[in-house]
Amino acid sequence: MVNKIQAACPKCAYVRTRVVCTKRAKDGVTIRRRWCPDCEHRWYSIQYPEVAIEDSEVKWIKTGSTAKFVPS
Ligand SMILES: [Zn+2]
Repeated sequence: MVNKIQAACPKCAYVRTRVVCTKRAKDGVTIRRRWCPDCEHRWYSIQYPEVAIEDSEVKWIKTGSTAKFVPS
């Protein structure tokens, strides 16, 4: 599984944007300063430690008949 921390440019949708600097605020919120090398747009993005997603967004890869989701 690839842990992708990518954010497309909000201006030109260029995917390979760069993180200029990262700041970790209290509450574990990570703020990233991003820069688009394509249109040179700069913006901030925030990543929380946990992001809730819809059940329909989860895709299971079946590894065996015993594969089971157990909430911690
Ligand atoms: Zn851009």
